[in-house]
Amino acid sequence: MKKEEKQLIYTLLKTADAYESGYTRPQFAGEPVFQDDTEVSFPGVTGESRQSSDVEMPGSSPSMTENASATMTQSLTLDELNAKILRCTRCGLARTRNNVVPGMGVEHPDVLVIGEGPGHDEDMQGLPFVGKAGVLLDRMLAAIGLDRKTNCYIANIVKCRPPENRNPMPDEQSACFSFLEAQIHLLKPKMILCMGKIAIEKITGQNISINAQHGEFFEYNGIPVMPTYHPSALLRNEELKRPAWEDLKLFKKRLDEIKNN
Ligand code: SF4
Repeated sequence: MKKEEKQLIYTLLKTADAYESGYTRPQFAGEPVFQDDTEVSFPGVTGESRQSSDVEMPGSSPSMTENASATMTQSLTLDELNAKILRCTRCGLARTRNNVVPGMGVEHPDVLVIGEGPGHDEDMQGLPFVGKAGVLLDRMLAAIGLDRKTNCYIANIVKCRPPENRNPMPDEQSACFSFLEAQIHLLKPKMILCMGKIAIEKITGQNISINAQHGEFFEYNGIPVMPTYHPSALLRNEELKRPAWEDLKLFKKRLDEIKNN
């Protein structure tokens, strides 16, 4: 296949993805570079057997592709985006969910809180963090002056419940991630708080140890991001509440600095 044909297919797929998610990925250094197929002859091998060099991703990885910096065109409102998410059947989680959980909160929040995915209660109600962990999350946020009704938005890496509360699979995370990217672009939060390992690893594209790196600051497209313990982990292990509280105090301090500048 000629490189022009490959580029055309790639562009069509990108356009379809943008239409579906409401998010157009920007051009960036990790875009694939297509080459013409090259036919390689081996002794005793017929012309039907080919070796091709299809796609070259110079210096990039799938996570880099998904985390491309955002200078994007965006035509949807948050409500329109969330309406699209509600209709999504992109990954296998669509078959087992009861409700899609796009997220909830205010439109231009100080803070975007990102969890991993809906659990049982969230799946039944179509709202994020409404079970026991959600009650604890609301208390944690309230302790530093945050509230989903006034200055926060709460979303997840995947918008549909993984069965039996298992971790979302990498392909499910990848299928869903452009929705979160679009939400971040529209919400423009001042800071992002990631609850647990799955959320921070997907947002940063890095391997992160929550035990070792909770409370550190990372960045997503210029937005400060901090990981801390997921409220479910705090419910399982009371001893984690103290370090989580220390994280939240640091987070609040940085947020106040940003707001006062
Ligand atoms: Fe679509 Fe995300 Fe739900 Fe999968 S988890 S069906 S990608 S909304």
